[in-house]
Amino acid sequence: MKRVRSRFRADLTKIRETVVDVPHKNFMMCLNESTLNPFEILSKEIIQKLRNVPFNRYFNSITQELLNLLSHYVGLDKEYIMMGNGADEMLYYTFVSVRENKKDFALSLSPSYFDYKSYSGAVGLKIQYIDLNQDFDFSTHKYLEKSKDPDCKLAIICNPNNPTGNLFPKTKIIEIIENCQQLVLVDETYFEFSGETLLNEIDNYRNLIVVRSFSKAFSAAGLRFGYLLSHPDNIKELKKVKTVFNLNLITQAIGTVILENQGLFQNYILKVIKQREKLFSSLSNMPGLTPFNTKTNFLIFKSRFSKQLYTHLQNCEIAIRAIWTHPVLRDFLRVTVSKPSENKFFYEKTRDFMLQKV
Ligand code: PMP
Repeated sequence: MKRVRSRFRADLTKIRETVVDVPHKNFMMCLNESTLNPFEILSKEIIQKLRNVPFNRYFNSITQELLNLLSHYVGLDKEYIMMGNGADEMLYYTFVSVRENKKDFALSLSPSYFDYKSYSGAVGLKIQYIDLNQDFDFSTHKYLEKSKDPDCKLAIICNPNNPTGNLFPKTKIIEIIENCQQLVLVDETYFEFSGETLLNEIDNYRNLIVVRSFSKAFSAAGLRFGYLLSHPDNIKELKKVKTVFNLNLITQAIGTVILENQGLFQNYILKVIKQREKLFSSLSNMPGLTPFNTKTNFLIFKSRFSKQLYTHLQNCEIAIRAIWTHPVLRDFLRVTVSKPSENKFFYEKTRDFMLQKV
């Protein structure tokens, strides 16, 4: 039979569709989502706001309103901001805007956010990695050496890093920004749990891009809202690859309500940090298991029984994340810090299992 030539880009046939392969259980502690549903608390404000945003129109003043609020939140003028459907879309647009030819690649650390690979692949940008050391730090020298390759079009650093949860020292990232010719994208999706940011360096470095999300601290993963911050000259270029009305008015309206009620989320962040510390200290006392400190809304831990524990927890209706594919994370699992009752349930089911094993 005659072989039909693909009508799509040749490299697309070689990559897999991105699927988020997680178990769906009653206790979803696998995707670093928030357990706070803003609609339960802010329904009156949200409905009121939506009434004033007719979605039969393309344009609405809500866009400027949101930009003003966001500009105030980040402490930068509106010209420094691009908004979109989650941090993911910001990554996607950045990849589209730097990719020039087949050999081009983005440089990332490994293990890091898995979807850098998905979205760079989607736009025909390759990806290369510098492995983290066993202590989750990395060699600046190796990173910079790799970045000197003329095909390296983007450097990415996730800070705090997902899935390891650690924060890289600011001086280290600055050293990379100062010595990289290309754009350096710092993914601060988990910023609010760490409190450390590169934002105040944006005016110092033309090659710095910071990506943020409303999916974690602002408890709005399903809303799909993220933003990118960089020098206005960069924003101008990045906006050229964006679809004109990429961010729907409903998301924009709800985004403004969230920013108008920041106190609620600041409170939530503090609670998560407290819960994380509590869970960390209970897990530290558990035989056969070692937790690691993080600066995010999740914890990681290792155990030689991790595979069996993962299955055991699934049988208890608890979904956590298996992150053991990279050698640095051999035997590691990741759990989202959730409601106190859920953390307790997770802890008890884990303890029951470990007590049988050790
Ligand atoms: N970057 C990192 C490091 C993430 O962990 C995630 C989501 N888990 C994203 C980006 C994507 O976030 P969003 O939901 O805003 O697209």
